[in-house]
Amino acid sequence: MLPLVIRVVGVLLIVGILVAIYRKFSFRKRCPACGYDDPNRVPRRGIYKQLPVKAYVCTRCRNHFYKVQLLTEDPYDHSLV
Ligand SMILES: [Zn+2]
Repeated sequence: MLPLVIRVVGVLLIVGILVAIYRKFSFRKRCPACGYDDPNRVPRRGIYKQLPVKAYVCTRCRNHFYKVQLLTEDPYDHSLV
């Protein structure tokens, strides 16, 4: 049985990681941190070039996040039409 303090730290660490992931990835073109729906596209870096994601930076809260492209999703962005 682990001491209580280690379990509490472990739970806080997991919650922190989940919150960080939640703020970093979104399935919609909307800032997951503040809900702003007109972020700027930015170039992807490093490993993200290999992943089906689009990089955005929120113009309101400066949160940098990735929109995950689902496999069933239309690869063309019709939002500009
Ligand atoms: Zn934001």
